[in-house]
Amino acid sequence: MQKLTERTGGPLFEGQTSALSVKRTKFPRRAVLPTFSLFSGLLFFITSFAQTAPSPDVFLGYKLGDHFTPHYKIINYFKEVAKDVPSQVKLEQYGETYEGRPLILAFIASPENLQRLEDIRRNNLRLAGVLKDGASADENAPAIVWLSYNVHGNEPSSSEAAMKTLYSLVDPANARSREWLQHTVIVIDPCINPDGRDRYVNWFTMAVGKNANPDPQSREHHEPWPGGRTNHYNFDLNRDWAWQTQIETQQRLKKYNAWLPQVHVDFHEQGYNNPYYFAPAAEPYHDVITPWQRDFQIQIGKNNARYFDSHGWLYFTKEEFDLFYPSYGDTYPTYNGAIGMTFEQGGSPRGGLAVATANEDTLTLADRLEHHYTTGISTIEVSSRNAGGLIKEFHKYFTDARERPGGEFKAWLSRNDQYSDRLARLKVLLDKNNIEWAPAPAGSYTGIHYETGKPATIKAASGDIVINANQPRSNLLRVLFERTSHISDSVTYDITAWSVPYVYGLQAYGLNAFVAPGTAPQQVTPVEAGASAYAYAIRWTGMNNVRCLSQLLAKGVKVRYAEQAFQSGGQDFEKGTLLITATGNGALGDRLWPVVTAAAKSTGVILYPIASGFVDKGADFGSGHVHLIHKPKVGVLTGEQVSSLNAGEVWHLFDQELDYPISQLDAGDLGRLDLRNYDVLIMPNGYYRSLADKAAAEPLRNWVQAGGRLILMENAVAQLSKLEWGLKEKGTDDKKDNDKKKDEDYSLLHHYGDRQREEVMSSVPGSIYRVELDNTHPLAFGYPDRYYTLKQDDNVYEFIKEGGWNVGVIKKDNYVSGFTGNKAKEKLKDGLIFGVQDMGRGEVVYMADDPLFRSFWENGKLLFCNAVFLVGQ
Ligand SMILES: [Zn+2]
Repeated sequence: MQKLTERTGGPLFEGQTSALSVKRTKFPRRAVLPTFSLFSGLLFFITSFAQTAPSPDVFLGYKLGDHFTPHYKIINYFKEVAKDVPSQVKLEQYGETYEGRPLILAFIASPENLQRLEDIRRNNLRLAGVLKDGASADENAPAIVWLSYNVHGNEPSSSEAAMKTLYSLVDPANARSREWLQHTVIVIDPCINPDGRDRYVNWFTMAVGKNANPDPQSREHHEPWPGGRTNHYNFDLNRDWAWQTQIETQQRLKKYNAWLPQVHVDFHEQGYNNPYYFAPAAEPYHDVITPWQRDFQIQIGKNNARYFDSHGWLYFTKEEFDLFYPSYGDTYPTYNGAIGMTFEQGGSPRGGLAVATANEDTLTLADRLEHHYTTGISTIEVSSRNAGGLIKEFHKYFTDARERPGGEFKAWLSRNDQYSDRLARLKVLLDKNNIEWAPAPAGSYTGIHYETGKPATIKAASGDIVINANQPRSNLLRVLFERTSHISDSVTYDITAWSVPYVYGLQAYGLNAFVAPGTAPQQVTPVEAGASAYAYAIRWTGMNNVRCLSQLLAKGVKVRYAEQAFQSGGQDFEKGTLLITATGNGALGDRLWPVVTAAAKSTGVILYPIASGFVDKGADFGSGHVHLIHKPKVGVLTGEQVSSLNAGEVWHLFDQELDYPISQLDAGDLGRLDLRNYDVLIMPNGYYRSLADKAAAEPLRNWVQAGGRLILMENAVAQLSKLEWGLKEKGTDDKKDNDKKKDEDYSLLHHYGDRQREEVMSSVPGSIYRVELDNTHPLAFGYPDRYYTLKQDDNVYEFIKEGGWNVGVIKKDNYVSGFTGNKAKEKLKDGLIFGVQDMGRGEVVYMADDPLFRSFWENGKLLFCNAVFLVGQ
């Protein structure tokens, strides 16, 4: 961060006038209209030949970097440039955020290329083998460079840089841009996360005085909870590329996958004391990354370095930001044939407009945006010079993907989960990522069973699907499905396991041969509920059933659930099956069955008519083993003591997936809230003052004993385990460690240089463990006797000895996939992960792992919903 203020010197790039130093005259064409004069006629003549747009400074009325620009003004600037330079800039709105802000792309090209933009796009898809329209793919095409800004809303310098970058590309005085645009099409997404950006910018504008205060302790450097990094539901959009759980990502990826750029840059900011980071990325690299992809990153990095060196700016490469987890803005493009990169400027989230850094310098917003501008332009430059090579290698990448797919398997077969929507949800994920799948043809297959890891013979059944590896998206497919992630280094930035069959709770097999597609099975016609039946049953097997229940409860329908399996009319129904009878639903009158039918149809749920309350096997519907589901009033704690991500997952589940009311309560207000208003209180991962000691937790305990249901997640479980409520954390085996120390003490002689690796011994960055479930307990209804959990720490708990239920436990050898340090591996055995403690008239539900992780851990959602809707009823 030294000498950062020297940046305003001469023009950055040869042939270009600095937008900051020269005030351009604004020539908006609309200003010409009122009076026609010789001057305005001349002006019209000029603009129609050399179209000019105002610089950001002129348009905004302040120098870039002097203020944070609110999102709508960024959009207005892009619109202005597109209007003023229509021969080179085309805007496209691709969607809206949850809060209704527009999401846009700007395409910047030479006038010739802009005219044939659609042809360029189609040709690019032919190169990738995605578009098969009979026309041949032309390698003599411009490279597509896609620049994404401000995915993290409180890393705001990048959207400011986006405006400067746009301007420099269309500035008629910039001869180099003109040259680069002969060989590249530039796509700019000026702000991926407008809701988060405006949350930050609005707050900062409110907190800053007339003059920015560089004192890092002053208020303007301390953003309140939940901060602007994330989107409306507190989701990190830079973890969402593959899963697409958020509408911003869903809409953007439709466009991204319709283009498939050769180069993608995701602009970020990191802590303000860090120098700039750019490619090449750090290890681990996933081993699907090709030598060309590795090499071109280095070329880009070297070009960036050339500019940074000339200014004396500090930077680092090859450290910290790895290429592994598939859902980032660098890895996802990389696994789809691009050179995908993350660039990080120092500054977030405490940079403000100016901040005093540790090395006694002042880092300003103007500095930060200048650096991002520089790497963006440098990337365009090096891509333009190598456009031919980029296209050729891109073509080869996809030819290899289709014709010579790597990895352990040639195809995958996934079982249909007869009554559940698990496979339906997997198909949605595949479709979102343009991964081709097909119905499995009848027949026998041999392959490796994901659950056992052993060879198996499978007879395909109706509804099963196959996914062949020989397709354009073969690399992404392989990364998403591989049983064990191939990691080249153990120090990583994120989770190390995400194998989709475990995440979705599906029975899957890896096959050693490609499979010709079969034909689709016939659709089941949905049953209409009517007065002729005694009752209707809904199986409790997936999230569609929970969505249906949510609708029924909202409409005032009384729903029961069967605690035991039963048989009726020759059909077997599992534990947890929902029952709707006319009896007890009189208040709805004739509306009952239309309401039930509508709820089932809109959620894709099958209704089973039941002729009599007298069942063939199991408990009759009037039995004490059939329970009425009281519509729970639910609250979730939020605020400074709570993980915004985990609280956001809970909120998103209720709001978007279930459409069920939830009160967001501030954990800091707990002492003042009337908890009697809630049946269920959720404490997401956090560090709670109300669980700090026994006395502080007393009000919560009283509420549970009076009938409340407390759902604790992750660290909230760890905190409670210290309070003698009945749960205890499991320690490591101290005795064994002591014995070892007696023999030899050489282990103490560890090397300073190894310190990062040694930390890794106890780390669990996110790996998959098999949890044995007691599925006779309502918490595990709808599951087989096992569940695959994402373990992100080494916390396990002793089995509950009395007054509670060990519903989900890890036994001896339950490690499945991902990286777990050796010390942590020792600890992660024979312990509780999910449990229920009965306490007075209420209960406490323990969830040591997050079953809602980033909302993509699909198979965990039902477990969480069981805790909310079934446990304790
Ligand atoms: Zn970031």
